[in-house]
Amino acid sequence: MEKKRLTVALVAHDAMKRDLAEWVAWNWEKLLSHRLVCTGTTGRIVAETLMSRRSKDTANSRFDITMLKSGPLGGDQQLGAMIAAGDIDMLIFFWDPMSAQPHDVDVKALLRLATLYNVPTAINRSSADFLISSPLMAHEEYTPVIKDYTSYIERNVK
Ligand code: PGA
Repeated sequence: MEKKRLTVALVAHDAMKRDLAEWVAWNWEKLLSHRLVCTGTTGRIVAETLMSRRSKDTANSRFDITMLKSGPLGGDQQLGAMIAAGDIDMLIFFWDPMSAQPHDVDVKALLRLATLYNVPTAINRSSADFLISSPLMAHEEYTPVIKDYTSYIERNVK
Protein backbone atom coordinates (compact mmCIF):
# COMPACT_ATOMS: atom_id res chain seq x y z
CA MET A 1 0.00 0.00 0.00
CA GLU A 2 1.14 3.54 -0.83
CA LYS A 3 2.78 5.44 2.05
CA LYS A 4 0.93 8.58 2.98
CA ARG A 5 2.76 11.89 3.37
CA LEU A 6 1.10 13.81 6.17
CA THR A 7 1.50 17.35 7.39
CA VAL A 8 2.45 17.00 11.04
CA ALA A 9 2.45 20.06 13.33
CA LEU A 10 4.86 20.07 16.25
CA VAL A 11 4.65 22.51 19.16
CA ALA A 12 6.19 22.40 22.65
CA HIS A 13 6.12 24.90 25.46
CA ASP A 14 9.53 25.80 26.86
CA ALA A 15 9.44 23.36 29.78
CA MET A 16 8.48 20.58 27.38
CA LYS A 17 10.99 21.28 24.59
CA ARG A 18 13.54 18.78 25.90
CA ASP A 19 10.82 16.11 25.90
CA LEU A 20 9.91 16.94 22.33
CA ALA A 21 13.58 16.96 21.22
CA GLU A 22 14.04 13.49 22.73
CA TRP A 23 10.84 12.30 21.09
CA VAL A 24 11.94 13.69 17.70
CA ALA A 25 15.40 12.11 18.10
CA TRP A 26 13.71 8.78 18.77
CA ASN A 27 11.24 9.07 15.87
CA TRP A 28 13.33 10.98 13.34
CA GLU A 29 13.12 8.35 10.61
CA LYS A 30 9.33 8.22 10.79
CA LEU A 31 9.12 12.02 10.77
CA LEU A 32 11.38 12.29 7.74
CA SER A 33 8.68 10.97 5.43
CA HIS A 34 6.21 13.69 6.44
CA ARG A 35 5.92 17.44 6.06
CA LEU A 36 6.57 19.19 9.38
CA VAL A 37 5.12 22.52 10.52
CA CYS A 38 6.33 24.02 13.80
CA THR A 39 6.00 27.16 15.85
CA GLY A 40 9.22 29.19 15.71
CA THR A 41 11.35 28.09 18.65
CA THR A 42 10.07 24.53 18.60
CA GLY A 43 10.94 24.43 14.89
CA ARG A 44 14.53 25.46 15.55
CA ILE A 45 14.95 22.67 18.08
CA VAL A 46 13.23 20.10 15.85
CA ALA A 47 15.46 21.10 12.90
CA GLU A 48 18.64 20.89 15.03
CA THR A 49 17.61 17.50 16.34
CA LEU A 50 16.80 16.15 12.87
CA MET A 51 20.10 17.50 11.48
CA SER A 52 22.13 15.85 14.21
CA ARG A 53 20.38 12.51 13.72
CA ARG A 54 20.66 12.75 9.95
CA SER A 55 24.38 13.47 9.91
CA LYS A 56 25.00 10.49 12.17
CA ASP A 57 22.98 8.10 10.08
CA THR A 58 21.98 8.96 6.51
CA ALA A 59 23.46 12.20 5.27
CA ASN A 60 21.32 12.08 2.14
CA SER A 61 17.90 12.02 3.73
CA ARG A 62 16.06 15.36 3.52
CA PHE A 63 13.43 16.77 5.76
CA ASP A 64 10.70 19.25 5.01
CA ILE A 65 10.05 21.71 7.82
CA THR A 66 8.11 24.97 7.88
CA MET A 67 8.63 27.34 10.79
CA LEU A 68 5.84 29.69 11.75
CA LYS A 69 6.12 32.57 14.21
CA SER A 70 6.98 31.79 17.80
CA GLY A 71 3.86 30.65 19.67
CA PRO A 72 3.40 33.71 21.90
CA LEU A 73 3.98 35.97 18.86
CA GLY A 74 1.15 34.42 16.84
CA GLY A 75 2.51 31.00 15.84
CA ASP A 76 -0.29 29.10 17.58
CA GLN A 77 -2.83 31.22 15.73
CA GLN A 78 -1.09 30.62 12.40
CA LEU A 79 -1.30 26.91 13.10
CA GLY A 80 -4.97 27.26 14.05
CA ALA A 81 -5.62 28.98 10.72
CA MET A 82 -3.90 26.10 8.91
CA ILE A 83 -6.12 23.62 10.77
CA ALA A 84 -9.24 25.60 9.79
CA ALA A 85 -8.03 25.52 6.17
CA GLY A 86 -7.61 21.72 6.34
CA ASP A 87 -3.83 21.91 5.97
CA ILE A 88 -2.78 19.99 9.10
CA ASP A 89 -3.18 16.20 9.38
CA MET A 90 -1.79 15.71 12.87
CA LEU A 91 -0.88 17.85 15.87
CA ILE A 92 1.79 16.95 18.40
CA PHE A 93 1.48 19.59 21.11
CA PHE A 94 3.45 19.15 24.32
CA TRP A 95 1.81 21.89 26.35
CA ASP A 96 3.04 22.69 29.83
CA PRO A 97 0.57 21.75 32.56
CA MET A 98 2.66 23.48 35.28
CA SER A 99 3.11 27.08 34.05
CA ALA A 100 0.83 29.87 32.98
CA GLN A 101 1.49 30.92 29.38
CA PRO A 102 1.32 34.54 28.18
CA HIS A 103 -0.62 33.25 25.16
CA ASP A 104 -2.96 30.96 27.06
CA VAL A 105 -5.94 32.03 24.96
CA ASP A 106 -4.06 31.08 21.80
CA VAL A 107 -3.17 27.68 23.27
CA LYS A 108 -6.83 27.09 24.08
CA ALA A 109 -7.86 28.22 20.61
CA LEU A 110 -5.38 25.87 18.96
CA LEU A 111 -6.60 22.89 20.98
CA ARG A 112 -10.21 23.89 20.32
CA LEU A 113 -9.70 24.01 16.55
CA ALA A 114 -7.84 20.69 16.58
CA THR A 115 -10.86 19.19 18.36
CA LEU A 116 -13.40 20.92 16.12
CA TYR A 117 -11.71 19.70 12.93
CA ASN A 118 -11.06 16.20 14.32
CA VAL A 119 -7.28 16.49 13.93
CA PRO A 120 -5.48 13.56 15.59
CA THR A 121 -3.73 15.27 18.51
CA ALA A 122 -1.10 14.11 20.99
CA ILE A 123 -0.59 16.18 24.12
CA ASN A 124 2.28 14.27 25.72
CA ARG A 125 5.00 11.76 24.92
CA SER A 126 2.95 8.62 25.40
CA SER A 127 0.08 9.81 23.22
CA ALA A 128 2.63 10.97 20.62
CA ASP A 129 4.18 7.46 20.70
CA PHE A 130 0.78 5.91 20.13
CA LEU A 131 -0.04 8.29 17.25
CA ILE A 132 3.25 7.97 15.39
CA SER A 133 3.17 4.19 15.61
CA SER A 134 -0.44 3.89 14.47
CA PRO A 135 -0.89 1.85 11.27
CA LEU A 136 -3.36 4.56 10.18
CA MET A 137 -0.37 6.91 9.71
CA ALA A 138 0.86 4.90 6.77
CA HIS A 139 -2.23 4.13 4.76
CA GLU A 140 -4.25 6.09 2.24
CA GLU A 141 -7.57 4.67 3.37
CA TYR A 142 -8.05 6.68 6.54
CA THR A 143 -9.44 10.21 6.44
CA PRO A 144 -10.78 11.73 9.65
CA VAL A 145 -14.48 12.53 9.45
CA ILE A 146 -15.23 16.25 9.57
CA LYS A 147 -18.57 17.03 11.13
CA ASP A 148 -21.08 18.76 8.90
CA TYR A 149 -21.71 22.25 10.25
CA THR A 150 -24.10 23.31 7.46
CA SER A 151 -27.08 23.65 9.77
CA TYR A 152 -24.99 25.85 12.08
CA ILE A 153 -23.81 28.01 9.17
CA GLU A 154 -27.31 28.34 7.75
CA ARG A 155 -29.06 28.90 11.09
CA ASN A 156 -31.57 31.68 11.26
CA VAL A 157 -30.07 34.55 13.25
CA LYS A 158 -32.50 37.32 12.32
P1 PGA B 1 7.56 28.30 20.36
O1 PGA B 1 6.02 28.40 20.67
O2 PGA B 1 7.76 27.04 19.62
O3 PGA B 1 7.87 29.49 19.50
O4 PGA B 1 8.27 28.32 21.68
C1 PGA B 1 5.36 27.34 21.26
C2 PGA B 1 4.19 27.82 22.04
O5 PGA B 1 4.44 28.41 23.08
O6 PGA B 1 3.03 27.66 21.69
